[in-house]
Amino acid sequence: MSLLVTGTIGVDTVETTHSRADDILGGSAAYFACAASLIHPVRLVAAVGEDFPTDFRKVLEGRNIDLAGLETRAGSKTFRWHGKYMEDMNDRESLRTDLNIVGEDPPVIPKGFRDSKFVFLANTHPAVQKQFAEQLAGPELIFCDTMDLWINAFRDDLLNTLKIVDGIVLNDSEAKMLMDGTDLIKCGRKLLDIGPKYVVIKKGEHGAMLITRDALVSLPVYPTEKVKDPTGAGDCFAAGMMAHIAKTGRTDLATMKTALAYGACVASIAIEDFSMRALQAADADTVEQRMKTYREMLTLN
Ligand code: AMP
Repeated sequence: MSLLVTGTIGVDTVETTHSRADDILGGSAAYFACAASLIHPVRLVAAVGEDFPTDFRKVLEGRNIDLAGLETRAGSKTFRWHGKYMEDMNDRESLRTDLNIVGEDPPVIPKGFRDSKFVFLANTHPAVQKQFAEQLAGPELIFCDTMDLWINAFRDDLLNTLKIVDGIVLNDSEAKMLMDGTDLIKCGRKLLDIGPKYVVIKKGEHGAMLITRDALVSLPVYPTEKVKDPTGAGDCFAAGMMAHIAKTGRTDLATMKTALAYGACVASIAIEDFSMRALQAADADTVEQRMKTYREMLTLN
């Protein structure tokens, strides 16, 4: 069934303690689309400026991504982000965010995409996420993401968005910040009280948790020793998860659990190189191989 992502496409500069990459393809929707397309076709809605490099567009064009919703706006500049990871790669600082086009009018969802059944509102302004959701006709499942910038500066908008989505994916520090708590399960339950049926909390190298009103699931990461750049791990986790849900068309607990496992496997691929490089070198078999290893790792006697 149809899968749609909305969010940012940008130019990133990423520093780790060992290396640095300047002006590489990034953005929440770019990571999601590249990762999801390993499993299922994906429709992309985002806007870039006229400065968006042709080579970056080619990366998106070469995949199972429908780009009918990618707007190139004359006179505008593409979103830019500069992030720095500490020795512990779970710790990241945003050194600079130039919203540029993300601070202007959002792109419109093309008519042909409005019937999308499974939707991921990747990181952007929460009021814009809500506007995107309102343009859809009869979606079956909408998940959103968020991050520190939006939690700190646009909390009320974010709470309004949470009232209309089915699920949220966020990391542990964001869940604690948003719900003003220290216990992740309690923070998850408080988030459920606002509206969503599903809360997925990512815990960096410690895996991820799904919290619903009736269930609690906790899964580990797919272990990799080759972490080069964790940027986009959250978007790629969500991509693996949503792509599996869209492919099966199901949202029962067993499917959601397997979807979380796909999220872990796809995220593990993305972080093995800067930008989309590791995703570009992977294919559906790479994901299935990791799923096989992951299933074996979790089987107990
Ligand atoms: P993640 O590591 O999953 O949080 O995603 C990182 C990506 O999100 C980078 O490629 C950035 O370009 C993009 N990004 C950074 N800050 C924001 C923001 N405030 N809103 C939307 N996207 C962002």
